[in-house]
Amino acid sequence: MAELIRGLSDNGGVVFCGVDSTDIVCKAEELHPTSATCSAALGRLLTGAALMGSMLKDERDSITLRVNGGGPAGLLIACTDGSGNVKGCIDHPLVELPPRADGHLDVGGAVGKDGVLTVIRDNRLQKEPTVGQVPLVSGEIAEDLTAYYAYSEQIPTVCALGVLVDADLSIRCAGGYLVQLLPGATDAEITQLEKNIAAMPPVTEMLRSGLGPKDMMEQALAGFAPSVLDSRQVAYRCDCSRERTKGMLLSLGRKELEKLRDEDPRCEVVCHFCHAKYEFDLDRLLQELPELPAENCQN
Ligand SMILES: [Zn+2]
Repeated sequence: MAELIRGLSDNGGVVFCGVDSTDIVCKAEELHPTSATCSAALGRLLTGAALMGSMLKDERDSITLRVNGGGPAGLLIACTDGSGNVKGCIDHPLVELPPRADGHLDVGGAVGKDGVLTVIRDNRLQKEPTVGQVPLVSGEIAEDLTAYYAYSEQIPTVCALGVLVDADLSIRCAGGYLVQLLPGATDAEITQLEKNIAAMPPVTEMLRSGLGPKDMMEQALAGFAPSVLDSRQVAYRCDCSRERTKGMLLSLGRKELEKLRDEDPRCEVVCHFCHAKYEFDLDRLLQELPELPAENCQN
């Protein structure tokens, strides 16, 4: 399990959330064997999603992040529930690029930056999801999430995300934090926050030296007398099931299912997020479809 905390400055004007997502990124790497650069790319997106999910009001709400940057790694997706539990996938997990000149993994190169970040918010009280979209800044993920908050939600936000991958491709550590300013912040407060954050070491360096999300909060919000609002455990969690997969197949409608059956009556569906396999006998599934006029079975 990964430790996630939310905190608030004493004056209530600065919100913090931080996570040690090492366990989440390890699980992702185990499920989708990834190159070092793709582990970092997907790991950063999952970490950002967990932070965003923890700020939702209801645990039945959810957010899906889609990063489509036109790079060799293809499309990246991360989904979070309203608690911060996440799942994700990446189109081409084995893509590897030479490291950047500064020695860092070239996440921006693998993701690409000619494209968009799409944020789909599903609120149980709204019929339709809210979709926000911003052009990618760098494909490095943290900067792209910051831009999303600035342009799409008008919330001044600082986001830091990090994944440290060992030479043997195992995940050494991963984590991140979000700092958001509520309306009414003074210039002096903004300057102080900027100073604090500029002075912070990278997230992975903090985690590697044994520091955790609470230490991140104390450094980021130094001078603001922050306190922890709540702390929770989050995980990589896929909510797929045989029942859901069956529902999805039935929703294809009779015509489409018959076409699939004619190709091969044995149908195997593999979940993108956890690689669980579900097998169905399409002849039996077709018998379960209610005998309705074709148009009623189309959705
Ligand atoms: Zn699954």
